[in-house]
Amino acid sequence: MSREKALTKRGVLWLGQTCNLRCFFCYFVDKIADKHHPEHPFMDLEKAKRICRALRTVYGNTSVDIQGGEPTIYPQIFELVGYCASIGLKPTLITNAIVLSNISLCEQFLCAGVHDFLVSVHGLGDVYEKVVGLPGGSEKQMRALYNLQTLGIPFRLNCTLTKEVVHELEDIVTLAKETGARVVNFIAFNPFADQQDKNVRNSENVPSYHTIKAKLTSAIDQLEWCGIETNVRYLPLCIAEERHRKNFYNFQQLSYDPREWDFNSWTWTTRLNQRSSTPELDEPIPILLYDIYEYNDIAFGDTARHGTKAHYMREIDVREHLLKLFSADISKDLLYRQNARLRAEKHCKYEYNQTCHTCSLRLICDGFHNDYASIFGTSEACAILGELIDDPTYFIQHQEKIVE
Ligand code: SF4
Repeated sequence: MSREKALTKRGVLWLGQTCNLRCFFCYFVDKIADKHHPEHPFMDLEKAKRICRALRTVYGNTSVDIQGGEPTIYPQIFELVGYCASIGLKPTLITNAIVLSNISLCEQFLCAGVHDFLVSVHGLGDVYEKVVGLPGGSEKQMRALYNLQTLGIPFRLNCTLTKEVVHELEDIVTLAKETGARVVNFIAFNPFADQQDKNVRNSENVPSYHTIKAKLTSAIDQLEWCGIETNVRYLPLCIAEERHRKNFYNFQQLSYDPREWDFNSWTWTTRLNQRSSTPELDEPIPILLYDIYEYNDIAFGDTARHGTKAHYMREIDVREHLLKLFSADISKDLLYRQNARLRAEKHCKYEYNQTCHTCSLRLICDGFHNDYASIFGTSEACAILGELIDDPTYFIQHQEKIVE
């Protein structure tokens, strides 16, 4: 366990939006449903390897989260896992774990060199099956967790905070304890990517922050009592009890979680060419050069559709960026913090309540996602009075994390 906070070196790879489940809140729900979407089919192994090689050699990443869709159904997954392990890129699979209900496949992942699994537990029993659309799915997932435990393969849990799952948090804590999960992440149900224009979210399936707080506080206490690392993402910092502010990650804190993604390589892998099965790859670009190219309108054609100017790059001062680029003094932490703010303010359009202006955490807190604000408003904001805090790691530096 360590309290050291350094910029993450974890990259992310999307193999293609092909999946064996249909979670209603999936960020890629359209791409998964549409077989003709350019991001739907899995890319070939050679392309996946080229992306991983760039993550390791250009961006200096040392871990990678491999996603599909569902990466366990990627035909050459064992070979890809082995390749990543061989080049010093520890492979994690973000998975629904349905395939892992077969223990012999778990053994194959172990032999291939998988580092760990990040399993999406979006509910238990009927709630899970309703969320993911697979009758019998929960039982398979439970079997998978016990398989991993039996074989000693490390795993962590992701739990998206929909309205129904909030009432199961105590049981999910018990599951984490019984199966030996190393980490549990609670993630706000936010409308990223395909969810943005869906209007799927409403007060029937999104819990209010007030409702979340009542259940989450006890869950964090119990998990920490058992030594299970607990992280909460994308919720306003004032929703946390004071003792839990170290567990809350807004965009500005993400870069200091070793299990979150490096904004630099993420900005490259999120582009269409790196997410589709076409043979082309964009040239890997450092985050600042990327900004400048975008701002100068150098044409990227169709590849500019996802995660580029429209998402992150509006209202950037080119001169300011050039100065930063050529300044020896500029700290990487500052650049990552700036990118975090772009993601929160421009991409997700987070909002503050009037009371936030008097809050001592306003410089390190994202506030309320604008979609949440449109459903519930922002009146749950509760200003934290005191000296103004301007260090994103102010609270999280007190959280112990597992060092690998
Ligand atoms: S800035 Fe606003 S949302 Fe964030 S902690 Fe303060 S009051 Fe809460």
